Amino acid sequence: MGYENTLCPECGGVWQFKVIGSCEGFFCNDCDWSIITTREDISDPVTYCLIIKEGNKLNISTIRLFSTIFGLNYIGVRSAMNNDPSILRFESRATKMIEIKRKMDELAINYSIIPDFKYK
Ligand SMILES: [Zn+2]
Repeated sequence: MGYENTLCPECGGVWQFKVIGSCEGFFCNDCDWSIITTREDISDPVTYCLIIKEGNKLNISTIRLFSTIFGLNYIGVRSAMNNDPSILRFESRATKMIEIKRKMDELAINYSIIPDFKYK
């Protein structure tokens, strides 16, 4: 990245390379300045697939979320949930999947991700 041994443009402090959770980047020792990238997109070439499982309650928040993620209207979501929820699939690389996973977890959705998803 070429930021090694660089001084912070904000305060002139020394930058340090750190890995924090799924992110890595250069952080200033003295102020809040940082340049952060997400590691998975660089180091994890896997495309993950999230699949909705049976047993999810349909409420307005769930329908809204599913409709956004799976690109269906409310009727499409309702029909998939009543017939075969496993047709509700979302594929992406890890970085985007982390975002989707968080939204699913917020609503306590029953889903699975293949292959095994090790990020939080
Ligand atoms: Zn600084």
